Amino acid sequence: MNLSLDRRSFIRLSAAFSALLPQFGRSQALPAPPVSHVPVKNRKNLVGIQVRGFSWADEGVDQVLDNIQQKGDVNTVWAYTFSYGEQRLQKNGPIPLPDHGKPGDSIAGGAFYDYDPKYFQNTILKDFRCKEYGSLNVIEAAAAKAKARGMSFFAWDLNNPGPKLNDTIPNYAEVSEVDVYGRRTNRPCFNNPDYQAFLSGKIQSLLLGYPNEIDGIAWGSERMGPLQNMIGGITTPSCFCRYCRARARDLDISVRRAQAGYQELEQLFQQAARNEQLNDGYFVSFWRLLLKYPEILSWESLWTDSFQDVQARLYGLAKAIAPEKPFGFHIMQTMTFSPFYRAEEDYSKRRNFADFFKLATYNNAGGPRLAKYLDRLSATVFHDAKPPEFLEFYYKIMNYQEAPYDKLAVTGLSPDYVARETRRAVQGVAGEVQIYPGIDINVPTLIKGNTPVKQTAPADVRASIKAAFGAGANGVILSREYAEMWLANLAAAGDELRQVLAGSKA
Ligand SMILES: [Zn+2]
Repeated sequence: MNLSLDRRSFIRLSAAFSALLPQFGRSQALPAPPVSHVPVKNRKNLVGIQVRGFSWADEGVDQVLDNIQQKGDVNTVWAYTFSYGEQRLQKNGPIPLPDHGKPGDSIAGGAFYDYDPKYFQNTILKDFRCKEYGSLNVIEAAAAKAKARGMSFFAWDLNNPGPKLNDTIPNYAEVSEVDVYGRRTNRPCFNNPDYQAFLSGKIQSLLLGYPNEIDGIAWGSERMGPLQNMIGGITTPSCFCRYCRARARDLDISVRRAQAGYQELEQLFQQAARNEQLNDGYFVSFWRLLLKYPEILSWESLWTDSFQDVQARLYGLAKAIAPEKPFGFHIMQTMTFSPFYRAEEDYSKRRNFADFFKLATYNNAGGPRLAKYLDRLSATVFHDAKPPEFLEFYYKIMNYQEAPYDKLAVTGLSPDYVARETRRAVQGVAGEVQIYPGIDINVPTLIKGNTPVKQTAPADVRASIKAAFGAGANGVILSREYAEMWLANLAAAGDELRQVLAGSKA
């Protein structure tokens, strides 16, 4: 890439490249583009909220907009235009339905808008329309009404893997990752040209198909590389499909040695699961494996670079079509728990390809979630110790001051956690990207047994909003879903926002 290109030329070239080649091409990470000369229309003090497709259908568009605008002081709707599945709450379920909305059966997901097939000519993924809710088109249903109220309307394109998508989207299994034993998974591969063209097609279909309705795009995919997944206990290592193997050969990484390394690593973690005693302990054995097979880390980097390259290309594509419309990314909460994932989500690098970042800084749910992550560290690389034994050291590394291990589920994480992650992001992007922390409003928490788990109260919502703006946030995203929020908590968010932002409105 020629660094003397200005940013507009870069993004046009990038888009042309994406459109012409089904595969995104060579494998090294992209260089930073020059500074933008195209102003992005970022709303000052953006207050977003994530709205599931079924909320519009269950409650009616006007009722949803009334609640989020009047109670929540929301100025930007993040409407799901694609999701991997819609989890519905039940009246008497483990997580009860709040004081609005309807109970319902969870569905597989797909697109909640009508798209022109011409944007999907280069991919085998052509038929992914969600047919639930009477084929509700959320853009046609809600965008004009939101904008008539002075709100912005963003498409929220969330690309998490969903176990049912292999069944409901024709050919979806064909683009899935292949694990270290040669088995297909239910996670699409970012090096698969059909999947790349599908992701590009969605951006084109939104920005070109709905130029007057869509004010911006939030893109997300909660994914991690093979090493992170193994530590997180999520899956067997992948991807070893032919596209990933080709990319590895380009980079002179031995496929055979990477496969052998990951298989030995699986054996080590299985020994930990059986609590076998190792003469040199688990951390030393883990490190010794990295020395024997540096390809373990090479493959992890290959995966992460592929993931982030795709995001950079999608950003370039969006900028070529509508440079003034904000295009940004959700970053999953694991970034705040895992020192390893945090190292991969490098703001000084990612700030070159984003207009905003939404951080999943859900502090109430963060307590039990962090406890679970500490359990995973203790089950794998830190199996020599229990979480309470390494917690102080862990907090030092992560720069947190939070509760003892046995209190985490009950107390949640503090507003100070929101502030520290916000500050780290603001400093990391050096003013080039808007930072929107996610404010936890009834993000569901479930742990085994009868331990009481932290539930969101109005005072929690107020404190985390204050912490976010106090740390320099450019806005917030009320999270996770409108459908999960109790109205008293939503109203507390609105009240606090009106106080915090008084005098600083755009
Ligand atoms: Zn692959």
